[in-house]
Amino acid sequence: MTGPFSIRVRDIVHRPGEMREFEFEVPAPEKWGEGLVSVPAESPVDLDVRLESVHEGILVSGTADAEYSGVCGRCLTDIAEGVQVEFQELFAYPGDEATDFEVQDDHVDLETLVRDAIVLSLPFQPVCQPDCPGLDPATGERMTTSTGTEQREPLDPRWAALQGYTTDHDDEAPRPDVENTEES
Ligand SMILES: [Zn+2]
Repeated sequence: MTGPFSIRVRDIVHRPGEMREFEFEVPAPEKWGEGLVSVPAESPVDLDVRLESVHEGILVSGTADAEYSGVCGRCLTDIAEGVQVEFQELFAYPGDEATDFEVQDDHVDLETLVRDAIVLSLPFQPVCQPDCPGLDPATGERMTTSTGTEQREPLDPRWAALQGYTTDHDDEAPRPDVENTEES
């Protein structure tokens, strides 16, 4: 019985120097992560994997892309973010000393490897934005929405700066004096 994260490696087993690369997508078999954010069950995990046959076994390395969701740790807004992790592990041939990862029945099963890498990378205190002001201690409302409905400027000063730049650009008048200089 092999899981969706298993890759058949029969063609490179005990053939040091052989290498194979795979790209595939697997749905997360269960919710990954127990904190404020987690990768939901069934959400896609994109894998980019390289398998190298070495004397001791199969060296597995690659990257995994997934999306986690949950709530901001300060204001409890729903958030969803992508996460990319790198992993590398030697899957040893069985019979040698016991290891966590082994080549079994000519397969390597990446599920534990990928899951652990992703779960470890999930933010322990996720925020909806780096400067999330959190909840108003007096009202319990989110600070970002309790500052007035007529507010049109974004709160984030970086956005405000961008907006100022755009306005300046639009208002920039043609420079007739330059054209006059060229013609004279
Ligand atoms: Zn927030």
